[in-house]
Amino acid sequence: MSDIFDLVVIGGGSGGVRAARMAATYGAKVAIIEEYRYGGTCVIRGCVPKKLFVYASQFSGIFENAADFGWQVDAKFNWSTLLNNKNKEITRLEGLYKKTLQNWDVTTIEDRGVIEGPNAVRLVNADKVIKAKRILIATGGVPFKPNIKGAEFGITSNEALDFKTLPKSLLIEGGGYIAVEFASIFLGLGVKTSLTYRRDLILRGFDDDVRSDLEQSLKSRGLDMHYQASIIKLEKTKTGVLVSFSNGEQAEFGAVMFATGRMPNVKDLGLGKAGISLNGQGAIDVDDYGQTMCPSIFAVGDVTGRVQLTPVAIREGAAFVETFYNDNPTKIDYSLIPTAVFTEPEIGTIGLSEEQAVKNYKNIDVYIARFRPMKNTLGAKTEKVLFKLITRKDGGRVLGCHILGHSAGEMIQLIAIAMAMNATKADFDRAIAVHPTAAEELVTFKAPSYVYENGEKVG
Ligand SMILES: Cc1cc2nc3c(=O)[nH]c(=O)nc-3n(C[C@H](O)[C@H](O)[C@H](O)COP(=O)(O)OP(=O)(O)OC[C@H]3O[C@@H](n4cnc5c(N)ncnc54)[C@H](O)[C@@H]3O)c2cc1C
Repeated sequence: MSDIFDLVVIGGGSGGVRAARMAATYGAKVAIIEEYRYGGTCVIRGCVPKKLFVYASQFSGIFENAADFGWQVDAKFNWSTLLNNKNKEITRLEGLYKKTLQNWDVTTIEDRGVIEGPNAVRLVNADKVIKAKRILIATGGVPFKPNIKGAEFGITSNEALDFKTLPKSLLIEGGGYIAVEFASIFLGLGVKTSLTYRRDLILRGFDDDVRSDLEQSLKSRGLDMHYQASIIKLEKTKTGVLVSFSNGEQAEFGAVMFATGRMPNVKDLGLGKAGISLNGQGAIDVDDYGQTMCPSIFAVGDVTGRVQLTPVAIREGAAFVETFYNDNPTKIDYSLIPTAVFTEPEIGTIGLSEEQAVKNYKNIDVYIARFRPMKNTLGAKTEKVLFKLITRKDGGRVLGCHILGHSAGEMIQLIAIAMAMNATKADFDRAIAVHPTAAEELVTFKAPSYVYENGEKVG
């Protein structure tokens, strides 16, 4: 290994791998350093294993409905089969990531990298320094555990993806998407699941109708939910963990998971050696092109504390490379990011919530449809789907689209294309429905459910 590179990337996750590979395709001499496993959070302990578990958890709901469609099912679930198969799949993906990098002549280094200066990275285990014209920090984020007595007896999403045996009961603290997704997964796998959140409704920042409809669905599936209460102490018992809550209550659970946020992964990274300081959120501050205060050092992905999603980290990595290795200055548009929450039912969302839209535009139309999807009509399941469209007044531009129901994530990806083209309600109306689907609702809305005039709700 020659020790002077055009680019050294620290972190082999979503953003780092994309940047390393792309820079190499433009002819740069690139090294990438990974201290754990290539693929990063998304592949090893995030999106991918989680989604595999989501699929596993959906079978119980399907079996519940099966009898109404004439099927007799005697199903049993085996956690270790799922765990082993999940582990095989992420190992396969990890290998693919590494192989792709090596195919593009990227030097892959398994070590911990820390900044030693504006153009130098120390390999901690090898105890050697490599030089780089540019350094890209893509070290991602780490789960945050509250500073309470007995916090060590609680786990995070990292460990929940690798339970040796499934706990009989699980308490999750948090109200963000990771908290509700994991609650939905373990509920579906038959674990008695509870959720506690210090505020008054899950998924702050999402559209309020989606939040409250999902809450209802999770409750009706058996999720035990507590608001305005946080964990203040954990104690280990013979059978699990005893939890003390801020409201004075106590209860024992088989396991306790903190989903109380993620922090940029900057600990002991040597940022001070290059004069890089952190912002108020503990993240690395960068400009529109990913450049830090040190002109030769850049950062992308979760470590910059912007939007913590894989496709965003990938875009940021790609934009950095386009700008500095292809002479094509590229900024990211953060205004229209579609996203999904893989609960059961699923959320797909893009653009402004009703609450944000009325603040920004004052005059808007809101279209809402809630109905029992066809799949539920033969049985006792009462769960409804929600389709919500928020537009500028009188058939104007679509500002937000929010879906709660089966395959909402898949639907919102396609809506994102229309919205990236500035689609209006009239464009949606021109589209012919696909029948019978749930999504046809999006192109058959007639009059708004209600409107806002000068910020006031009317009708
Ligand atoms: C449970 C969970 C579920 C998620 N689900 C989704 C989802 O459904 N959809 C979605 O879009 N996003 C999801 N995310 C978020 C997504 O995983 C992250 O936004 C994404 O991985 C960020 O990419 P990144 O490149 O910034 O960092 P990461 O992918 O975290 O990669 C950082 C890498 O750097 C390595 N590293 C750190 N420090 C060093 C060092 N000093 N030296 C060498 N290596 C180092 C780490 O080991 C890691 O491999 C999820 C996250 C979690 C935790």
